[in-house]
Amino acid sequence: MDTIKLFNTLTRNLEDFKPIKKGEVSMYVCGPTPYDKSHVGHARTYIFFDFLRRYLEYQKNEVKLIINLTDIDDKIINAAKKEDSWQVVPDVYTRYFFWMLDKLKIKMPYTFPHVTTHMQEIIELIQDLLNKNYVYKIENGLYFDISKQKDYGKLSKVNLNDPKIGRIEENKNKKNPGDFAVWKFKKKGEPFWYAPFGDGRPGWHIECSAMSSTYFGDKFDIHGGGVDLVFPHHENEIAQSEASIGGPWVNNWVHVAYLTISKAKMSKSLGNFVGIDQLLDSFSPEILRYYLLSAHYRTQLDFTWDKMKKAREQWTKVARAWYDVLQRDEQKLYGDVDLSKEIQMEFDKSLVALENDLKTPEAYKNIHFIASLVLANDLDEKSNSITLKALKTLDEIFAFLPEKSWTKKEYRLATELAELRQELRTEEKFTMSDLIRDNLKEEGISIEDTKEGPKVKFDI
Ligand code: AMP
Ligand code: ZN
Repeated sequence: MDTIKLFNTLTRNLEDFKPIKKGEVSMYVCGPTPYDKSHVGHARTYIFFDFLRRYLEYQKNEVKLIINLTDIDDKIINAAKKEDSWQVVPDVYTRYFFWMLDKLKIKMPYTFPHVTTHMQEIIELIQDLLNKNYVYKIENGLYFDISKQKDYGKLSKVNLNDPKIGRIEENKNKKNPGDFAVWKFKKKGEPFWYAPFGDGRPGWHIECSAMSSTYFGDKFDIHGGGVDLVFPHHENEIAQSEASIGGPWVNNWVHVAYLTISKAKMSKSLGNFVGIDQLLDSFSPEILRYYLLSAHYRTQLDFTWDKMKKAREQWTKVARAWYDVLQRDEQKLYGDVDLSKEIQMEFDKSLVALENDLKTPEAYKNIHFIASLVLANDLDEKSNSITLKALKTLDEIFAFLPEKSWTKKEYRLATELAELRQELRTEEKFTMSDLIRDNLKEEGISIEDTKEGPKVKFDI
């Protein structure tokens, strides 16, 4: 079994990642609040966890990924004011989120638990916390008493004397400013659920504690999300879950840095976002994946359209090399340059970079070096097949290479036309032979004359 060093937000250390059950990884990633279209910031987080999942699968683990959906929340209720039913809002934008996952080649999670279909588990967890005296009741809901959890703050290292703590839920009846709602009592005109401790709806954090344990039990391997979730969301999840379990909960906490725009977090509430549909009007999903994975996941990445264009240029080089290798393999038209050792070495180095906390910028350097070797040389059979294997493996992990754009039939027809053109040329029928070449070019197919014969090339 291979290894990977992963940064754990809980310990602030690089740690050798070892799943609780050998060969099986349980990973829970906080999902969206579907009240608006998903944007490129969301894509950064979900593409990263897809990439981590693919990497762990490449290391022969079975990965059980769960992404939840916060389908009831203040933001949803606000967004639904114009609708006949509040359910319309999460319904529409959950479908948009699914569309994004599919478009961006994000592998399907094991399940997508919704808050509204896990109300029973949420209520049971709150009841348990009430029984254990971690939760108390005031006029507008049930609150978690953070002073009861001795190590509260261990994930975010938050300063509990900071006056900003608890500002959002200002309520003079709370025992501590940082206490947070686990259940909000019903308000007129708002959706609510029946509960033994009073009708209402859940607070934000309780859902992830309840839903993750529904599927994973008391312990699991990786809990992730964007860095904005460290406090208060994940801190409060830990407080609730560890209070209920009576011991430590998640092993590894993984957080993705922001995708920013003019250095500010891209977000729905700031309105500075680029929607996925808008982005895909000009760039392919593979280019977006390539761009978002080009920065290390713990480094902020600032979005500009110019950077997207630059990413497209670099990506095109890698994609050309990939097409080159594929087509050389299909036509069995090899050159005589042996670069098998160099290419294998660069590939190995790229994997070492990934083993070390997924250092994608370093891996990209190796990948680019491979691409430049491919584009500048007529590889022999051995080097070509090593490159083919290397790029296929890297694509299993990154999923950033373009799909093959030609069918077998198109390939055969183009090759036959290229041979026909060759014959016409030997007969000096240049008008016809040029016509064939120009028409093929218009279809994105070029003919290269090599000493082994004509070689057909499909463009990206
Ligand atoms: P939300 O729907 O805002 O709760 O976000 C869903 C997930 O996307 C969370 O894990 C967020 O941390 C993440 N996310 C939202 N905006 C960004 C951003 N600009 N950069 C990176 N991750 C983000
Ligand atoms: Zn969560």
